[in-house]
Amino acid sequence: MMSTTVSEYFGSQVFDDRVMKATLSAKVYQSLKKTIDEGQRLDIGVANAVANAMRDWAVSKGATHYTHWFQPLTGITAEKHDSFITPSPDGGVIMEFSGKELIQGEPDASSFPSGGLRATFEARGYTAWDPTSYAFIKGKTLCIPTAFCSYGGEALDKKTPLLRSMDALNKQALRILRLFGNAGVKRVRTCVGPEQEYFLITQEMYNRRPDLRFTGRTLFGAKPPKGQEMDDHYFGVIKPRVAAYMEELNQELWKLGILAKTEHNEVAPAQHELAPIYTTTNIATDHNQLMMEMMQKVAAKHGLVCLLHEKPFDGVNGSGKHNNWSIATDTGVNLLSPGETPYENAQFLLFLCAVIKAVDDYQDLLRIAVATAGNDHRLGANEAPPAVVSIFLGDELNDVLEAIESDKPYNGAEHTIMQLGADVLPNFSRDTTDRNRTSPFAFTGNKFEFRMLGSSNSIACANIMLNAAVAEVLKKYADKLENAADFDTALHQLIQSTIREHKHIIFNGNGYDESWIQEATQKRGLLNYPTTPDCMPHLLDQKNIDMLTSQGVYSEAELKSRCDIMLENYCKTVIIEANTMVSMARKQIVPAIEEYATEIAKTAAAKKALEEGLACRYEKELVKKLSSLTDQIAQCTDALADSVTEISAIGEVLSQANAIRDTLIEKMSELRAVCDQAETITAKKYWPYPTYGDLLFSVK
Ligand code: ADP
Ligand code: MG
Repeated sequence: MMSTTVSEYFGSQVFDDRVMKATLSAKVYQSLKKTIDEGQRLDIGVANAVANAMRDWAVSKGATHYTHWFQPLTGITAEKHDSFITPSPDGGVIMEFSGKELIQGEPDASSFPSGGLRATFEARGYTAWDPTSYAFIKGKTLCIPTAFCSYGGEALDKKTPLLRSMDALNKQALRILRLFGNAGVKRVRTCVGPEQEYFLITQEMYNRRPDLRFTGRTLFGAKPPKGQEMDDHYFGVIKPRVAAYMEELNQELWKLGILAKTEHNEVAPAQHELAPIYTTTNIATDHNQLMMEMMQKVAAKHGLVCLLHEKPFDGVNGSGKHNNWSIATDTGVNLLSPGETPYENAQFLLFLCAVIKAVDDYQDLLRIAVATAGNDHRLGANEAPPAVVSIFLGDELNDVLEAIESDKPYNGAEHTIMQLGADVLPNFSRDTTDRNRTSPFAFTGNKFEFRMLGSSNSIACANIMLNAAVAEVLKKYADKLENAADFDTALHQLIQSTIREHKHIIFNGNGYDESWIQEATQKRGLLNYPTTPDCMPHLLDQKNIDMLTSQGVYSEAELKSRCDIMLENYCKTVIIEANTMVSMARKQIVPAIEEYATEIAKTAAAKKALEEGLACRYEKELVKKLSSLTDQIAQCTDALADSVTEISAIGEVLSQANAIRDTLIEKMSELRAVCDQAETITAKKYWPYPTYGDLLFSVK
């Protein structure tokens, strides 16, 4: 398809550092770099020069429009296109784009959810350029990554709090590094490599399923004769049609400068995974949004549909997103890597402890960050990590922490006692840390892998909470250590007390085990919030408001708005699903069963009319079963429809969400159960939908 090599077209649609260097004057380039690297204010003169260069570059690549590309609270991305054209006095047009237009835009975005942050009379929010994420061309449009705020400065998007959380962590991590004598580091950033799971099915089958079209998941469907029990799909040979899709997807992503790296089949049939190479968190977030968009666009070109829902098929593994997260300095040091020297080791242990304490203190925030109606199906089902947050460290690291905690000799080491700052830690190779795939939060050698994210989640929320929580702990640590009379002693005590206070969150066993949930909640006192309405209100717990506001990540008003929006989102999602079920049952499923039953009855009548007068026991039984099922389906459908009406009338969003959790969802599964039963005894040609078997094995 493309004759050039990857290195020639990689990033060809991105206004990246190479293009900046080539198109900006040295002075403008230096000034912009200072903004990007050190967060310095952008001067309007510089913005004008950058805007000119950007426009020329974009126009030379065939772009006609530009847009401020942003991430409203809906979780997807939004764009409003303006063309570059400005009329010129001679009746023609010139292509114009000013620094002001680059820096700030005013989308008429009054319909985005704001959870009451923007009064309707001041309908407009504004978008502001995030110069730390490169502009890029998509189709014929120059996209400028932006933050989206109200005129009062409240964040109406996910990028703004993410950038704030990165700043918060940077500030506190620098304080710690200074204490360890690191004077050269100017900036600390978190990095993320999100592994993205998805399903591919054919467009033709997708079109025949209203549930997939309206809700992204199947609401009906009996189990296929063959599912994932053979485990023959995982890392199996990639089918030609899927391979062609992946090839084109990679090309599109590479053009956008996205480091798409590994791809393989996942556990479930028709399930696949794509992972990029990790990068700075806000860029990784932008890239993940773009990646999800491209996955769907490229699929359409191949006559396929890419399902990003967390649980498209009942009884089949759902899709998640593993958020591989680490902390790195601008000098290239990964602070979650044990390092080579005793001092590096001590510093590593302090950052490790900060993460452990942060995850324990803010378990609820991590759960909240991944809470959606879709992900509720996954967390707690037997393939995803449970809704209980725990940390996996691996045996070696665990032994080290135990040794430090109790001032006992470390296993296998010759010295008697682990002396922080004096002894070198053993090397934790990935192999020894990464055996456990069931942990929600696993240390994997030099990074943490947070595995609770749903496949359609924006990774922004999880990283906002993670960064903010770790920043908070680092702040407490720095406050203590900066005032310590003896640094080494204080450090040792701090690490020891952290291990003592927070070891209950460390769990190296099987997270899918039912007994673990018991132990976690009853013996260890860990939180278990199985559903979105269970966890979401805790966003507004005082300790969470205190932490997030004092770290400057959210204002209290912003938190309230998010809580409302997430609950509203949950309610809307499930109510749409329920309505879709009612409509499918009434308009297609019952009529199909009736038609089949009529056909059988006709057969029986014909057989009876034969001279010998056949008994037709089979037909009679079948018609009886079918008609009993249609009665049950009709009953369940009415009950569900009534429940929707009742619940829709509840005004307060949390009460509505609770009612959905307690009654609506059960009514949905009751209806599904009888319909799925009917599917198994209805002839295929009468059943209105492609079956699970058809869907899961549709792509050759
Ligand atoms: P898997 O978890 O499937 O075995 P890998 O561990 O190879 O896969 O990588 C998963 C993801 O972790 C990739 O996106 C990779 O770029 C990312 N990753 C690797 N090192 C780091 C790091 N230091 N910080 C953040 N992400 C990382
Ligand atoms: Mg992984």
